[in-house]
Amino acid sequence: MQPNHHPDDATLVSYAAGGLATALSITVACHLAICPRCRQRVSEADALGGHLLSHLPQQSLSAEHRQAMLDALDKPAADEPAAGHRASTAIASKETSAEADDLLPAPLQHLLGERFSDLKWSTLGPGMKQVKMHVGNSNLRLFKIAPGTCMPLHSHGGSELTLVLRGSYSDEIGRFCPGDVADLDPEVEHQPIADRDQDCICLIATDAPLRFRGIVPRLLQPFFGL
Ligand SMILES: [Zn+2]
Repeated sequence: MQPNHHPDDATLVSYAAGGLATALSITVACHLAICPRCRQRVSEADALGGHLLSHLPQQSLSAEHRQAMLDALDKPAADEPAAGHRASTAIASKETSAEADDLLPAPLQHLLGERFSDLKWSTLGPGMKQVKMHVGNSNLRLFKIAPGTCMPLHSHGGSELTLVLRGSYSDEIGRFCPGDVADLDPEVEHQPIADRDQDCICLIATDAPLRFRGIVPRLLQPFFGL
C-alpha cells in the first residue's frame, strides 16, 4: 500500500523536532509506519537538525548534567520491545490475514487496545460513530462513516490531520484511501463523503475545535465535543 496523500513538509519537520501536539504526532507516526517516502523525509529533517545543533556554540556540561544524560541514554526506549514482546510479535506474524486486518496501527494500540473489533463506538449522528481519546491538549478520535454518508461542511480552528485506516472518502481535495493523510490548514473548508462500498474509518487529530457551517451541526457541536 503506497499512500498518495502525505503530511506536508512543515508537518514532518515539526514531527521530527518534537513540535507537534500529541494527537497530531500519533497520527503522523501511524502514517510513517506504512510510508517509506515520509520516513525518508523525517530522517532528512533529523539529520538537518543534528547538523544545525553541531554548529551551535559549544558549552561544557556540568558533571551532574553529563551523568543524567548518560543515564538517560542507558535506559531502554519506551517503544523498545522486551524479549517477550518480540516473541509475541513473531507469533502475530503467523496470524491469518483477516486477523492481521483487524489489528490497529501500533502507535494506537496503547490507547485503544489491539483490535478494531474490540472498539467501543458511540453514535455521533446518522451514519457516524466515533471513539474519543484523551491525549494532552489535543483531540484524537476514530470516526466511522457509513457507506455514502456525507459529513457536515466544516473548516478548522487549527490544524487537522486525517489518516484513512479503512475504506475511503472523497472531498473537495480528492479521494483518500487507506494510508492517505489529509493535512488541512485552518482556512480549508471541506465536506467528506464516504465512498459507497464499505464503512470508512479515519483517525482524526485536531488541535482546535472544528468550525461547522449550518445551524444544526453548530447546535450539536458542544454535545459531541467536536
Ligand atoms: Zn507519506
